[in-house]
Amino acid sequence: MTITHTISEIAKNKLCHSCGTCAGVCPRNAIEMQLDECGIFIPIVKTELCNNCGICNKVCPSKEFDYSKFQKKIHGRLPEHTLIGNFISCFDGAINDDLIHRRVQSGGFVSAILCYMLEKRIIDGAIVTAWDYHSPLKPKTYIARDKNEILHAAGSKYLPVPTNVILKEILKTKAKYAFVGTSCQIHGLRKFEDINPCLSNTVILYIGLHCHCVYSFHFIDHILAKYQLKREDITCFDFRSKNWRGWPCDMRLLLKSGKIINIPSNISRSLARGFFSTWRCHLCYDKANEFSDISCGDCRVPSAYGKPTLAEINHNTLGRSDIIVRTKRAKIIFDRFLIETEYKVQPANHKSIAQSLKISEKKIGSSVAYHLTKFICPGLPKNSVHFSFCNMMNQWDFFALILSMMNTFWLYISRLMLKYPFYRKLLVIMPTSWLIKFYRITSKFLLERLHGNETEMNYQIKKSELDNKEQLSRGEFF
Ligand SMILES: Cc1cc2nc3c(=O)[nH]c(=O)nc-3n(C[C@H](O)[C@H](O)[C@H](O)COP(=O)(O)OP(=O)(O)OC[C@H]3O[C@@H](n4cnc5c(N)ncnc54)[C@H](O)[C@@H]3O)c2cc1C
Ligand code: SF4
Ligand code: SF4
Ligand code: SF4
Repeated sequence: MTITHTISEIAKNKLCHSCGTCAGVCPRNAIEMQLDECGIFIPIVKTELCNNCGICNKVCPSKEFDYSKFQKKIHGRLPEHTLIGNFISCFDGAINDDLIHRRVQSGGFVSAILCYMLEKRIIDGAIVTAWDYHSPLKPKTYIARDKNEILHAAGSKYLPVPTNVILKEILKTKAKYAFVGTSCQIHGLRKFEDINPCLSNTVILYIGLHCHCVYSFHFIDHILAKYQLKREDITCFDFRSKNWRGWPCDMRLLLKSGKIINIPSNISRSLARGFFSTWRCHLCYDKANEFSDISCGDCRVPSAYGKPTLAEINHNTLGRSDIIVRTKRAKIIFDRFLIETEYKVQPANHKSIAQSLKISEKKIGSSVAYHLTKFICPGLPKNSVHFSFCNMMNQWDFFALILSMMNTFWLYISRLMLKYPFYRKLLVIMPTSWLIKFYRITSKFLLERLHGNETEMNYQIKKSELDNKEQLSRGEFF
């Protein structure tokens, strides 16, 4: 029998999301998720246990994720709003409890709705990701069954987490769950739902986190090396804490000695995004978590704070959540949640949310990355859709596009370089301020110029799906 493991190829080509779906569904427990040399989790197949059933290949969202098929399956239609996806209504909101608000990442929507659903017995458990009690630098996915366990998971861990390994546990029970995860994690579960429809009676609500990228685990080692710390010195590693200056949060390390190290967000985030975000994330289209039931993120719409610009907010807030209600199932639960709790919301404009989330930057950026790397990177995922912008405005846009292409190559090379210890050492030796300047020059300036005008985007589906063939020629850029 020939054993064909496309998932091993996916991992070898640095295309794995680390979602863990393959490991979660393998009937022979033949897949183990392990950290690779680039600092992401990849599946390792124990060939002696595998019977070549092929389920892992079928559920892998990185190999293929058919956008149009799942849009129609979940929402009944293709999205009218190509940046944000199908939705019923949009809001921004915040939890009405200062203590909890300080602890959660944004406006605490995720923790609040999970607590509500548990309290009202709509679910038996919530699938969440927290730092491991025993290992404060390792995230762990588990089933939370009370308010404390939900709040323990509050806060974003910007790391690749194989959340979907939890399928092993939840498929054994008849209980009902809500799942919290990034877009790629939800893509994996949606694909499994396709071959095992019972999953939709088990996971009754997918709460999607808006997601720009995750960082390699090498980023944690980088921070430790910069501050001359050892792993065992750390009690708490908080990617984004409100305890120093409020939202939009700074990185905070709590040491066993009691010392606290605050690292301003402009440094920690630029450094992480510029040098440690994973290559796979640069190919990802789905920032707004379009296949979840309800998605949320940091609300950056200035008007939500009663201020005209974000600069004026100046950390003087605890943050809000933007909330996109996408399915009828979510709407029923969300409406009851609003009536029966003190969670405060106000309606939000979907265009403002799309703009503040910079979704076009993500979609155009990944489109550029996809089209350029398909020549050099084997096995690129098929998702049946690409985005293009139809109105290239002026020579500036063209210039920015060329530089953005060069930037793609730099991203590709630098992410692959992470596997070499000398490159990681070089990043530690280089002054952080230089790295950040380099990142801003190559990425920020160019992408902002390119995407700043929120280019109108075309949602292009497989040729066979297009009713109107004219659409293909109009605005096709690549
Ligand atoms: C990797 C990642 C990237 C993100 N990128 C963006 C972005 O670019 N723009 C934006 O607006 N928002 C982004 N978010 C979402 C944002 O950071 C908040 O998580 C979101 O606004 C929810 O806030 P909250 O106060 O409601 O959450 P909380 O009440 O604090 O709950 C957070 C929940 O997130 C879950 N969680 C944390 N880390 C992970 C993980 N790695 N995988 C799966 N689940 C996890 C926990 O289970 C917890 O239940 C990202 C989140 C993550 C995890
Ligand atoms: S082919 Fe089947 S048995 Fe083999 S690793 Fe994949 S899911 Fe497991
Ligand atoms: S299912 Fe997820 S973890 Fe497994 S290979 Fe595919 S992307 Fe990677
Ligand atoms: S950017 Fe996309 S691929 Fe990367 S973690 Fe987020 S959802 Fe997954």
